[in-house]
Amino acid sequence: MKDYEFSSGMSFDLEDPLATRFLGERSIKIRDAYGIKFDPKHIQHLSNKINIILTNGYYEGSSISQIAERLKNGLADFVDITFDQALTISSTEIIGAASYSKYIRIKNSGYTKKKWITARDENVRPLHREMEGNIINICDLWAFSDGNSLRYPGDHEGPDHLVVNCRCVEVIVFESHENFMNDA
Ligand SMILES: [Zn+2]
Repeated sequence: MKDYEFSSGMSFDLEDPLATRFLGERSIKIRDAYGIKFDPKHIQHLSNKINIILTNGYYEGSSISQIAERLKNGLADFVDITFDQALTISSTEIIGAASYSKYIRIKNSGYTKKKWITARDENVRPLHREMEGNIINICDLWAFSDGNSLRYPGDHEGPDHLVVNCRCVEVIVFESHENFMNDA
């Protein structure tokens, strides 16, 4: 899979209790696109260990690169993993958790529409470039031209090619009440 989107210079909100809880409470899905080789009998242990390292790192305010370094070292005993692979896991999972938290906050905001925004550079994957600036109702899914859909950028239930290394965000569309009435 082509390495779309990721850049190590990105920033995000490190002090987000909902994102921390999301990371801590769920079992990390080890995606094929992460490219790590492991014995299938270790999968649960591996998933748990990744969870703990990501959650602790995020909670402590470590950078994505620092967390990736810990991931690489922490998993080295039973999995073959490079720093770049660890970076892909930490960025996808941590940014995904932050996006999940934002998704919940947007859903509860009382507003009705949201917009997709990409990083607007040449690394944005074509399917996300097509989505730039699109506006949907907050309760709807982001439907892509390949037939897949996501609830939010980085949706942990989405397919690898739409999720791994994604830097896109969704934002609330602030419009007046009158505009909404006219739209209806
Ligand atoms: Zn994206």
